[in-house]
Amino acid sequence: MEDEGHRILKLNIGNPAPFGFEAPDDILKDVIHNLPKSQGYSDSNGIYSARVAVMQYYQQKNVKNVKVEDVFIGNGVSELIVMAMQGLLNNDDEVLIPAPDYPLWTAAVSLASGAPVHYRCDETNGWQPDIQDIRSKITDKTKAIVLINPNNPTGAVYSPELLQQIIELAREFSLVVISDEIYDKILYDDAKHHCIASMATDIFCITMGGLSKNYRIAGFRAGWLVVSGNKLIAQSYIEGLNILSSMRMCANVPSQHAIQTALGGYQSINELIADDGRLKLQRDMAFEMLNAVDGLECVMPKGAMYCFVKVDAEKFNISNDEQMIFDILRTEKILLVHGSAFNIKEGCYFRLVFLPHVDVLKPALESIANFFKNYRQQ
Ligand code: PLP
Repeated sequence: MEDEGHRILKLNIGNPAPFGFEAPDDILKDVIHNLPKSQGYSDSNGIYSARVAVMQYYQQKNVKNVKVEDVFIGNGVSELIVMAMQGLLNNDDEVLIPAPDYPLWTAAVSLASGAPVHYRCDETNGWQPDIQDIRSKITDKTKAIVLINPNNPTGAVYSPELLQQIIELAREFSLVVISDEIYDKILYDDAKHHCIASMATDIFCITMGGLSKNYRIAGFRAGWLVVSGNKLIAQSYIEGLNILSSMRMCANVPSQHAIQTALGGYQSINELIADDGRLKLQRDMAFEMLNAVDGLECVMPKGAMYCFVKVDAEKFNISNDEQMIFDILRTEKILLVHGSAFNIKEGCYFRLVFLPHVDVLKPALESIANFFKNYRQQ
């Protein structure tokens, strides 16, 4: 369609920069300043200043016993997800993954010859993970449980009580807890982020974070993985992570220089999520306008940058959610993502990215409303 000259509004990917979210100036300046010094490979686990900054970040979040050698810097969290699964899994080892999920998690488990097992997140309970469902899916092959908190695609932020229940399951069944916390600073209203690794020292935890979302520099490809808790039981795994890390030489070096400045500098994200902040206003607009459409329903996202919208499949005669996305694309020139792409088996959903400025978001939401006024899937 673009080749034919159509302009497509891409609300399918959480990429802040094209929507006018600029990186904080001090980060750019630091990267530019350090560019001449970034010509060689770095230590394969990352430059020292970045690893110290990440270590301190988690120490401030009250994660106990984190040392510099527990921090691995990667080309975004994406690379580290794949690496973490490659190191962890033998054939057919099972990993519990939320449904809906961020689909790279499912793909990375499969790529490492493991078996992704999806647990239910409960829409009627603000999309919090369903502990009973998790428990019922644990087998003697279950190796780990993945959390995405704050969640993509649902925007749920997990309560400390829920995290405590997950810790208890991990303790009972000796599971590794893996927490993808890439949106940990993108929180709305009264939401507070709790880092699960800070809540237990006897469980082996892997926590991931990065600069793509909190600092709006997804193109820099800077992320990290931190191991904490009961590292003694995971010594050979940590050794494996070190080997995998050195097999890819190192993460790109100029971007690593952004990490210390980002974590230690002025947190401009707080302006964007404040009550009168740009991201918060966009979230409110998306939530209100989507819920005002007859046949659409969305739980209020408490974090991240997405609305995960339930569609009344019966009303619109929808049997194929991907077809619905193509129909919206063709008629409204707006690209969304169908719910089944997030490995959720029941119900009909789509995910919308609320990154555009309200001047662009409002007409886009009106177009979507208009689309559903007359839609009957053929
Ligand atoms: N994890 C989650 C939950 C995400 O939503 C994303 C990107 O959308 C990533 C990881 C990938 O992040 P990165 O840009 O650091 O590779």
